[in-house]
Amino acid sequence: MERLLLKKLYTAISMISAFIFVFLFLIMILLGSTSAAGSANAITLQNILSSDEGNQVYTDYFRPAIDEVYTKSNIMIELSWIMTPYLYTDFNKFDKEEISKIAWLCVEKDKEKEKYSKRTFDEYFRDLIKIEKFKNLEKDDLYKFISENEQSNAIYYGNVPNKINDFKKIKITLPVENVPNYYDVGMYDPFNTGMHMHYGIDISVPTGTKLLATFDGVITYNGYDAVGGNMVIISHGELHVLYAHLREPTKKGVNEKVKIGEVIGYSGATGKVTGAHLHFQACAAKTNNPYDSCVAHQAETFFNPKLLWNFDKK
Ligand SMILES: [Zn+2]
Repeated sequence: MERLLLKKLYTAISMISAFIFVFLFLIMILLGSTSAAGSANAITLQNILSSDEGNQVYTDYFRPAIDEVYTKSNIMIELSWIMTPYLYTDFNKFDKEEISKIAWLCVEKDKEKEKYSKRTFDEYFRDLIKIEKFKNLEKDDLYKFISENEQSNAIYYGNVPNKINDFKKIKITLPVENVPNYYDVGMYDPFNTGMHMHYGIDISVPTGTKLLATFDGVITYNGYDAVGGNMVIISHGELHVLYAHLREPTKKGVNEKVKIGEVIGYSGATGKVTGAHLHFQACAAKTNNPYDSCVAHQAETFFNPKLLWNFDKK
């Protein structure tokens, strides 16, 4: 009798615990799916590139494809066009050949003129879904993600510094009080001498505009350059910002400290320019010579300032 009772009790307990287990499991699934949905909304290319893994994947797989297309066609394609399809399929397996193939879908060669042009999203998508892996992609989803990432200025050609997350903790401000129009990092040909990389952002401010230290830092360069005109570099650890074409740079010299928001000079049109503007460039380098690292080796060290600064803020 006692034994039977114990057995019943045991069965009851196991049933209750089984029930509790299933209940907890369901809650977990429910919570999991909500948080997954939440994080899916939060996925941006910028977030992906901010992680070490994402940055590595970009450097090893996607950037070479962008470089390849650029070298042959002179067209800089958007990273979002070639990376996004993987977000909707398989973000674990990458194949250089496949990525290169997708990258070439973004441009078209005019056989008569021997010139390339950028294709429309429709043209690109039409060929993208011919690749088995991407045949089920939803055009609207893809287009939405790509345009959101373009609109949020999340992704630009350039490096993503390893320390980007540390840089995000630094208190920053824009280099000018008000940003009217600006010209982004990217390929350009202002002097009709052929396309080349523009490593900074050109902010179209009139001569004499106050230029502000974007963070607490130290002046690491203050001098004249044939291309950049009067230039000032301010550094905060491995983060450096360069201001070029100044009419009047600060009187402070190298190793002198500056405070965030402090006037470090006035904009102008010195050096090689087509008009007055501030050329604002950011670079990441562990260096004793920021001028050398960020000017002579800019291809290796530059990143798009938009990864840290919001120039569209009104
Ligand atoms: Zn510039």
